[in-house]
Amino acid sequence: MQVESMSEERARQPLQKLHFLYHELRTDPCDYSYVLETTKFDEHLDLFLQMRKAERPGLWPEVTFDDGHISNFDYALPALMSRGLTARFFITVGWTDKRPGYMGWRELRALHESGQLIGAHGWSHALLTHCAPADLDVELGKARLVLEDKLGTSITTISLPGGRYNRRVLAACRETGYTQVYTSVPRAEREPLGFTVGRLNVRRDITLEWIRNVLQPGSRELSNLEHQYRIKAAAKTVVGDRLYEKLWALLNRKEPDGGDGGDYAA
Ligand SMILES: [Zn+2]
Repeated sequence: MQVESMSEERARQPLQKLHFLYHELRTDPCDYSYVLETTKFDEHLDLFLQMRKAERPGLWPEVTFDDGHISNFDYALPALMSRGLTARFFITVGWTDKRPGYMGWRELRALHESGQLIGAHGWSHALLTHCAPADLDVELGKARLVLEDKLGTSITTISLPGGRYNRRVLAACRETGYTQVYTSVPRAEREPLGFTVGRLNVRRDITLEWIRNVLQPGSRELSNLEHQYRIKAAAKTVVGDRLYEKLWALLNRKEPDGGDGGDYAA
């Protein structure tokens, strides 16, 4: 009797999710830390499916993408669809149909019509903590309105360029009508999700074994990662964003035309 009530209790425990953050995918290997090979992405998805079906499930893996790179459409979409998976794609709206290498409205509509989820990632990829109120109107408000208008759906989620936020940015997101803000703080989230949702920024050098470990409930890997993240965030505050970006680019072999203005640094 007691055993039964214990297992019932376990079944009632809220599901914990871990959101993975991807950017660009490439067929060829690339030195840049946050560009992932398509074969590795396929392996990640297969592992996620396996972990979701596991007899003793750990954290429930979810997939998200930032920036709106064209590889999200070319490679990620078919890989997700063939496995019956849904991901959330956060789009730098001002880049759409403007910036080479990023999705246009045709691709975004197809993504949306395939049942994938779309959110905003600002208008110009400006770090929101650096934006004056008028700029925030564009980065948050215009981005949302244009996405809604072009896709004919309501947009209520946003992810933060560079992962940067403070109380003012979160308040502005809420006022603009976003109900969820996806950050780059690597931590698991309980269902139902709160206003901010942490994510694990995927590096190309992580192994399947590491992912398997990180998805175990209460994993040391995840708490270490969050600890490192807090230290990095403190370093940004101390040395300033601009110097931090330079140091970071040096350490992570950022390409001069890499496109993303520091999102990966988060
Ligand atoms: Zn970004």
